Amino acid sequence: MRIKVPKEKKYDVIIIGGAIMGSASAYFLSKNSDYNGKTLVIDKDLTFEFSSTARTNSCIRQQFSEPINVKISQFSASFISRLNKDYFKFGLPTQINLDNFGYLYLANTKKAADVLYANQLMQNSLGSGTYLLEKKEASKAFPFMNFSDILLCSHNTKDEGYFDGQLLFEFFKNYAVSHGVEYIQDEVIDVILEGGLVKTVILKDGEAISCENLVNCAGTNAKGISKMVNCDLPVEARKRFSFVFDSEEKLDKKVPLTIDPSGIHFRSDGERFLAGCGPSEDFPVDRSDFSIEENIWEDKVWPVLANRISIFDRIKLVNWWVGHYAFNTFDQNAIIGSHPDIKNFFFLNGFSGHGLQQSPAMGRGISELIIYNEFRTLDLSTLEFERIRKNERVLEKSII
Ligand SMILES: Cc1cc2nc3c(=O)[nH]c(=O)nc-3n(C[C@H](O)[C@H](O)[C@H](O)COP(=O)(O)OP(=O)(O)OC[C@H]3O[C@@H](n4cnc5c(N)ncnc54)[C@H](O)[C@@H]3O)c2cc1C
Repeated sequence: MRIKVPKEKKYDVIIIGGAIMGSASAYFLSKNSDYNGKTLVIDKDLTFEFSSTARTNSCIRQQFSEPINVKISQFSASFISRLNKDYFKFGLPTQINLDNFGYLYLANTKKAADVLYANQLMQNSLGSGTYLLEKKEASKAFPFMNFSDILLCSHNTKDEGYFDGQLLFEFFKNYAVSHGVEYIQDEVIDVILEGGLVKTVILKDGEAISCENLVNCAGTNAKGISKMVNCDLPVEARKRFSFVFDSEEKLDKKVPLTIDPSGIHFRSDGERFLAGCGPSEDFPVDRSDFSIEENIWEDKVWPVLANRISIFDRIKLVNWWVGHYAFNTFDQNAIIGSHPDIKNFFFLNGFSGHGLQQSPAMGRGISELIIYNEFRTLDLSTLEFERIRKNERVLEKSII
């Protein structure tokens, strides 16, 4: 169904995909007094039901292996902490709370421990509060957890934990709409170039809309949109499972977002708990495939939980869902910036499971590129598309 028709035949900026990245871009454009242009956001489903944004776990961390990702999350944390009730008319009831229970990485091999040592040095040189715990210290800090096979842990409770990503998304969108950005529901089926630049976007209903700049915020369909301008983007849909469970016995302390060496992660979720993992074999899937792997909860997830926290032997699964990562197969990192040849085609893609927390820095960055043709605040140029052409990876090792 078509919701709203575009008011104009031509826009300064068209954004394909209106979820967190599209809306963050629209927010930062409409907030910038140096930009007086017209912006159109096109999304094929304005309920966003199947977007990654609607299926996220909504956590933020400083514990990355790449310095640029630490800096991005630092900006996000400060941005979120500055949003307060002054913004209530854009859908923020109160401040967005960042619950700093932190991430707890568990290393069970020397190689994995060495990565934690190196990451901690780098993260703290940038001002984060990561600290290392050996087995004895970890058992003291989290007495309910089994560390018998663990050599080293890292934990950080500064700007690291859970925040309400849906509120942030609503805020970006509401702010943009109230500042004149149009949102329409339609599917972009083609992009027409003229003289080496994007000229027109073709919608499913046949309408053609012109633009000065086009931003690809299509999530797991980023590759499909890029293909329309003959560009091969290394981004594919990968399944991720989330499980919410209740424990019969309670704990007297929050469980940090614990990254088990098995690849399964779990944390407190209010009074309940949340666990997540990928499928047994992680391969690209059809974007319409939201089926769960049979018995994965019983056979794979629950045994890991019960081994790590003994009271999780008696738990009850209360909810689960399947979501897709827009997985960057090249180096598992964001791809931002304009196409090296098609200068008015912009990427904001490939977030590989850490996009929600990156949306403030990414939205700001893309708005700066569009308005000033350069990054003015945080330099995100190491994440530009050009690195893929040059085959220079900015490999993020701490992928969850
Ligand atoms: C299970 C799970 C857990 C996660 N946990 C975290 C976390 O804890 N922290 C974190 O930072 N990140 C997390 N992420 C990642 C984060 O959710 C994503 O990186 C982020 O939501 C990506 O937002 P996006 O706007 O790029 O894409 P999406 O949210 O997928 O939105 C893309 C939009 O593009 C639209 N679209 C696509 N093609 C077209 C077209 N042709 N025409 C019009 N519209 C189109 C779609 O309808 C969709 O609304 C998680 C993701 C998953 C799946």
